[in-house]
Amino acid sequence: MHLLIIEDERKTAAFLQKGLAENGFAVDHSNNGQDGLFLATTGNYDLIIVDVMLPLVDGWTVVQEFRKGGKLTPVLMLTARDAVNDRVKGLELGADDYLVKPFAFSELLARVRSLLRRSPILQSELLCVADLEIDLLRFKVSRAGKRLALTSKEFSLVSLLARRYGEVISRTVIEEQVWDMNFYSDTNVVDVAIRRLRSKVDVPFDKKLIHTLRGIGYVLEER
Ligand code: CA
Repeated sequence: MHLLIIEDERKTAAFLQKGLAENGFAVDHSNNGQDGLFLATTGNYDLIIVDVMLPLVDGWTVVQEFRKGGKLTPVLMLTARDAVNDRVKGLELGADDYLVKPFAFSELLARVRSLLRRSPILQSELLCVADLEIDLLRFKVSRAGKRLALTSKEFSLVSLLARRYGEVISRTVIEEQVWDMNFYSDTNVVDVAIRRLRSKVDVPFDKKLIHTLRGIGYVLEER
């Protein structure tokens, strides 16, 4: 699951990024409405969180312009306390839900999950490949009926590979989608993560699902 946060308050943004990453989401962040709108329209996000008061372009305009492009991605707006008109305006312009600041992280997480569950772009909560099952909303992975203990990065990684079943995914794309857009690394972080994932998902089982295409990337498929 790939989320975009458009929020200029550094503390709030950092708190959201950290909490969502800990819950298995890959998160991009923009600190103004202009860049945020650009990322929202060009990126491939599962959900977008937008603050109302933003530099350059305000949150309402971001939502309005984003919806004009025909995008169905769920949008959660963050509004100031007691600003009833703000909430109504946000919903009228195409936001799916709002949350009044200040809020508890658990409440935000519940809203995010509920929006994703209703999302028209999420075909199914459950991804199944052979006997591998990935529950995208409950962050559970099992193989042959046995629950696997994955870290949040391993969960993101296996979900990405499974959602793009049969498609070879390059290391660069994996870095972008599983870590974040500003993650640069000259180490073999992807290969290490794949090795760890394999030790849980493939090694204990006869049929291997994760395959390496040397020099190209990785693919998850049943062979
Ligand atoms: Ca703000």
